[in-house]
Amino acid sequence: MEKTLLEPLTCFGNADYKIDRIHLFRDISEENLHLIADIIQHCAIVKARTGQIVLDAHSSGARLYVVLQGVLGITRQDAGSNQLETAITQYLPGECVGEISVLDEEIHSSTISALADSELLVIEAETLWRLIDESNGVAKNLLQLLSFRIRAANAQIRNRQKVGEFYRQLSMVDGLTGLHNRAWLNSQLPGMIEHAHATGNPLSIIMVDLDHFKRFNDDYGHLVGDDALQSAAKVMNAGLRPSDFAARYGGEEMIVILPGTTLKSAIAVAERLCTRLRKTRVFEEREKPLPHITGSFGVATLSAGQNTAALIAIADAALYRAKDEGRNRVAS
Ligand code: GH3
Ligand code: MG
Ligand code: MG
Repeated sequence: MEKTLLEPLTCFGNADYKIDRIHLFRDISEENLHLIADIIQHCAIVKARTGQIVLDAHSSGARLYVVLQGVLGITRQDAGSNQLETAITQYLPGECVGEISVLDEEIHSSTISALADSELLVIEAETLWRLIDESNGVAKNLLQLLSFRIRAANAQIRNRQKVGEFYRQLSMVDGLTGLHNRAWLNSQLPGMIEHAHATGNPLSIIMVDLDHFKRFNDDYGHLVGDDALQSAAKVMNAGLRPSDFAARYGGEEMIVILPGTTLKSAIAVAERLCTRLRKTRVFEEREKPLPHITGSFGVATLSAGQNTAALIAIADAALYRAKDEGRNRVAS
């Protein structure tokens, strides 16, 4: 919607609007209200037709608009569409818009349009400053309004942060297995390794690769393969302490991180996971149960000066030894 000129109707002195309905002039003495009425009697009243823009990023802070009748709202136009999308913030009769831009003389930050045919009182910056000079009540009401706006803006920022954090967490989870994903691993494992070096605590990892999984997919189909992968992920996750982590490394490979765990204990954990996986019935509810899946496990413990890549390489080498030795087993 193009910004068009708002149609002048009359001035406040000639209209029938009650001054004490305007929030900016609330709780002000009779005497002071007379003075205010005198000051604003020449202020224009304009008409904003439905959809017409009242304030946008091109409006400099020259004036404030008070809604006398109708409703204004912050609107956002969707790219490629002429439809105005209405946001939650609405301004009803008595409320005003544009006061922050008048005070700081900055351009307006959002687009405010008429959501219905509206009549607006226009208070030019110069007049508003005069009102502030002449009336403590106006200054007080304006301060209250500003603190309300600040609180609302802070609440909006907090909500956006929460939504951002939600999506960040979501982007760190593997969609199929629900385990942490590779992005999570890349962002977390180096820090854990650094911490282990700094504290002198041990840290072990287990690389897991499902056995003959290509054949499993070929025999039973990719979707059944997905189910099997989910079952395997559950086995990994369920057998861990709260301080341990399981992530999908890629394809049918997973990695288990065991902070504070020596090689001996990590081998014991891997043996336990290997046995549980072997015993897992993937499709118990089916009439004809499928063969159990198995996995090969490679265990490695962090040694002095080792980085993430070197630790993973050692675990990988152990995993391939487990494959070579016949699969469905643990090597270190
Ligand atoms: P090995 O015992 O030597 O590990 O044999 P393998 O067949 O498991 O090894 P390979 O790396 O040759 O094959 C891995 C297979 O895992 C191939 C691929 O189709 C399958 N796979 C990887 N990711 C997924 C997935 O998300 N879903 C399903 N169903 N299969 C997957
Ligand atoms: Mg593989
Ligand atoms: Mg495999």
